[in-house]
Amino acid sequence: NESLHELDPEVAVAVDAELKRQQSTLEMIASENFAPVAVMEAQGSVLTNKYAEGYPGRRYYGGCEHVDVTEQIAIDRVKALFGAEYANVQPHSGASANQAALFAIAQPGDTILGLDLAHGGHLTHGMRLNFSGKQFNVVAYHVDDAGLVDMAEVERLAKEHRPKVIIAGWSAYPRRLDFAEFRRIADEVEAYLWVDMAHFAGLVAAGLHPNPVPYADVVTSTTHKTLGGPRGGIILARNKDFAKKLNSAVFPGFQGGPLEHVIAAKAVSFKVAASEGFKERQQRTIEGAQILAERLTSEDARAHGVNVASGGTDVHLVLVDLRDSELDGQQAEDRLHEVGITVNRNAVPNDPRPPMVTSGLRIGTPALATRGFGADDFREVADIIAETLKPSYDAEALKARVTALAEKHPLYPGL
Ligand code: PLP
Repeated sequence: NESLHELDPEVAVAVDAELKRQQSTLEMIASENFAPVAVMEAQGSVLTNKYAEGYPGRRYYGGCEHVDVTEQIAIDRVKALFGAEYANVQPHSGASANQAALFAIAQPGDTILGLDLAHGGHLTHGMRLNFSGKQFNVVAYHVDDAGLVDMAEVERLAKEHRPKVIIAGWSAYPRRLDFAEFRRIADEVEAYLWVDMAHFAGLVAAGLHPNPVPYADVVTSTTHKTLGGPRGGIILARNKDFAKKLNSAVFPGFQGGPLEHVIAAKAVSFKVAASEGFKERQQRTIEGAQILAERLTSEDARAHGVNVASGGTDVHLVLVDLRDSELDGQQAEDRLHEVGITVNRNAVPNDPRPPMVTSGLRIGTPALATRGFGADDFREVADIIAETLKPSYDAEALKARVTALAEKHPLYPGL
């Protein structure tokens, strides 16, 4: 019964340092968030000890009566949250959910049509080195010159290649997708429509973004981005047509024992996501991103070569375009790190620089909104970022402004 500090001070010190880092800096990686203490409590519980291969009521192990309860609560809550008739809460991650979903509706060698990684897609949507790119015949669509998904190209490629699956979803795209149009195109070529809402699921849960569930054959998501829960994945469907195939793709197809402690934590996060407070937080998330986009498209920012892909945002992130700036993505990321703001460099469409350098930044507001940031705070954050990306900047002064914001909104005060 030794504590972490007693048993393993080396690890404990690093964990403590990470807590301090999260508390003292501004987290603006668009795929990150801060899980509630109750979620972390469930995730750190004795449920980590339990084997439970199978599904609630149909397990291959004894002693599952309590994890059956938590897993069933998670299933029921997530179905209600998104209006789905089918849910699987066992995928260990977003990538695991995507792998299972794809293998449930297609077979290796089939053609899949997804958004190009370099234009905001995800690895699991057909990247060359990913399982999706290695085992499927990948055709990619792109964004147009305005930075919007080119639906005319989607239709043209769908008719030309007759894909088995059309994938709608993204990791770095600041606008909403037209799910009805994707459905129409999929029907026209008799393809399945798979929507990966990993990034924007929290906005959907709050009713601030169109819900893909009524349109798609399968919907996957992570639970840790805008949704604000533990790290993990889920699969949803509007009806039970693929229920058997999806369940058996997850287990025994790709996974063994489910992470019941994480599933319990998912259940808690779905309860939070159904609350009024969650909706209000997602509103601040979108408002914050819009404030950021406005500041980074101002004349002052553009004078230094800073711009925003698609000219703005409808979601929780801004894709900063530095192709006209003296700074590349790596340098910009490093500068923001120096003043205490964490972001990730990201390729912009038609990026002339290599993927390890890039000409862009992906900046998200979910974690700061969870911390309590409102419009005035986001205006200050946006100004700090714009000032940091100018040719000359006062790192000390900017860092002091970051610290003031961090202190105004304490994170995990009891920890
Ligand atoms: N799908 C999308 C659209 C994502 O952006 C991500 C993560 O960045 C994933 C899936 C994969 O999630 P995970 O990192 O949990 O495997």
